[in-house]
Amino acid sequence: MDRYRKQRTRMVETQLRSRSIKDERVLKVMETVPRHLFVDEGLIDQAYNDNPLPIGERQTISQPYIVALMTEALELKGRERVLEIGTGSGYQTAILAKLADRVFSIERVAALAGRARRILDRLNCYNVAIRVGDGSYGWKEEAPFDAIITTAAAPQVPAYVLEQLAPGGKMVVPVGNRDVQTLYKLTRSAENPAEVKKEDLGGCRFVSLIGESGWKE
Ligand code: SAH
Repeated sequence: MDRYRKQRTRMVETQLRSRSIKDERVLKVMETVPRHLFVDEGLIDQAYNDNPLPIGERQTISQPYIVALMTEALELKGRERVLEIGTGSGYQTAILAKLADRVFSIERVAALAGRARRILDRLNCYNVAIRVGDGSYGWKEEAPFDAIITTAAAPQVPAYVLEQLAPGGKMVVPVGNRDVQTLYKLTRSAENPAEVKKEDLGGCRFVSLIGESGWKE
C-alpha cells in the first residue's frame, strides 16, 4: 500500500461516485493507479485534487472526474483495442491499459510521449503502444478500434479517426471552440455500421488539438 492510497479512495468517493460514475471497474482502477506519478514533483500534493494540473509544454493532465466520465462512456469490458489521441501525462492511458486488451496512443509532443512511456513501463503497462505524431489521422495500420478517446479539443469530430471506429464501437471526443467544448459520445451501430449515434455528455474545457483536424499551433 502506498501513502497515497487514502487520497485515492477519497477521490473516488467524493469526486466520482458522488457525481454518478457507476462502472465498478472504472472506479476500482482509479482507486489503484498512482496518479501522483504522472504529475510534476512540485505538484504531487495536488495530484488527487478535483482539477486538471499543468504537465509542462502548455498541456494539462485532465481532472479525475473527466477521466472517469470519458472512460465510463467507452463501456470497456477487457477485450477491446483502444485508440487514444493526446497521451499527455499518460495517466488516462494507464487507466485504459488496465481496462482493455491493447491501447494505441498518439501524442504530438515527443517530450511528453517519452515521459509517459517511462512511467507506463514502471507500472508494467506493456499493452500500450505510443506513437509521436498528429493524431488527426488516427492509426490506420492498427484500425479498426473498439473504442476511441480524444483528450484534446477539436473544432469538429475528426473524420479520419471516426472512420477507424469498429461496428459497435464507442468514441468520446470534446468538440467546440478553443475555450469551451461539448463532450460527445459517438456509437457506431453494430447492425448498420454507416449509422453513428451522437450523445451529449455535457460541457468541458480541453487543451486544443493541434494538427490537420484541429487548429494551427
Ligand atoms: N489525457 C491526457 C491529456 C493531455 S492534454 C492527460 O490526462 O494527461 C492533451 C494532449 O493532446 C497534449 O499532451 C497535447 O500535446 C496532445 N495533442 C494535441 N494535439 C494533438 C494531435 N493532433 N495529435 C496527438 N496529440 C495531440
